[in-house]
Amino acid sequence: MRSTKARHSQMDCRVFEVKVVSSKISKAQKEQVNQYFREAKWRRNSIVADLESADRNGKTAVVKIGDTFEERPLELLGSQVRQDIYDMVKSEIRGLHTKKGKGEKVGALGFKSYCNSIPLRQYGVTYRIDFPRNRIKIQNIDKDFYVRGLKQIPDIAEITNARFIRKPDGLYFHITCFTPKEERVKTDKECGIDFGIEHNLTLSDGTVFDIHVPESKRAKLASVRVNRSLRKNNGKRSGNHYRRVKKLQITYQKDRNRRTDLANKIVHDILTSYDFIAVQDEMIHNWHSGLFGKQVQHSAMGYIKARLRNNFRVHVVERSFPSTQICPVCGCLTKHPLSEREYNCIHCGYHHDSRDIKSAQSILEEALRQVSMERRAQSLVENSSAVPVSSDTEYKNSSMKQEAQML
Ligand SMILES: [Zn+2]
Repeated sequence: MRSTKARHSQMDCRVFEVKVVSSKISKAQKEQVNQYFREAKWRRNSIVADLESADRNGKTAVVKIGDTFEERPLELLGSQVRQDIYDMVKSEIRGLHTKKGKGEKVGALGFKSYCNSIPLRQYGVTYRIDFPRNRIKIQNIDKDFYVRGLKQIPDIAEITNARFIRKPDGLYFHITCFTPKEERVKTDKECGIDFGIEHNLTLSDGTVFDIHVPESKRAKLASVRVNRSLRKNNGKRSGNHYRRVKKLQITYQKDRNRRTDLANKIVHDILTSYDFIAVQDEMIHNWHSGLFGKQVQHSAMGYIKARLRNNFRVHVVERSFPSTQICPVCGCLTKHPLSEREYNCIHCGYHHDSRDIKSAQSILEEALRQVSMERRAQSLVENSSAVPVSSDTEYKNSSMKQEAQML
């Protein structure tokens, strides 16, 4: 296990999504898949119901029907899947515990009315891929699945675990692979990023990305249909109602796909063209609940930020730094209302045509300053006769060092 871990640490971890061709699923198989997800739900809920005495290898689940409880056998879930669901619940509890430790408000772990994701841990045992025939076989499900998208996985990839996912528009597999590390071409460029509402993303060199993907007409129409028929039927939920809801879910998913796709492209763009990236930790949550809910909801801002933050070349400046107010010349603060799109310093007269670009530049400057400070403190600890170096070379040193640690 240790040698595998060491090998994987030198590789890129990637997840590929492949879709099951739904027209090739027979009725019997469809029922079996539904039962598979149902059993996963039973398993999870019965663990949550009785955490103390839950068995990691338990072959039955207690299901609540009305007011009575019934013990049911889990026929389709293999032993590894059952163990993984148990471990998942455990890690969820651990997550809640750490959250509570940080002083956040947490509730108890609740029951779920559906389970749409099943872990398939071991390639070759819980699931198998037949590349020439484009098929994936899951343990205990009779027929294999005809899938599209296996060509994305390179031949040299080392396939590990996967997830079986149920989305409104069909079934998917998320397959985790390890591939040899790709060398990134160094660009020697750096940038700061300002997240805003006018233009969602402004870079310190003036590049602007608009990541607003509005709600599609299709989705609006579908939601109108759901609400109108509910009103007509006095809130009674008929079979047709659920059909309409399903349609609505599919349109939402399509919108989400477009948004994620755009966000992925932007993140890729930024990460390949800059060596050092600075962002500010802002409360996107607050915007969401405030005046700008719709604008934020229909952009992939939070997703982009999370993706960027995971990269070790990205430096995060804390929330309290006044990036929009601070003057780059005299360092004084000038308050600017949101309607004011230019920047004017009332103390020294400094002017910038775009407050967003100015703000991005301030974030970058602050990040570079912080990195050089950290670097200096580190070198002081390591070597008391450290010579101060210019901040420009310093961050490169530190990023190189980080890279060396990664290797
Ligand atoms: Zn000034």
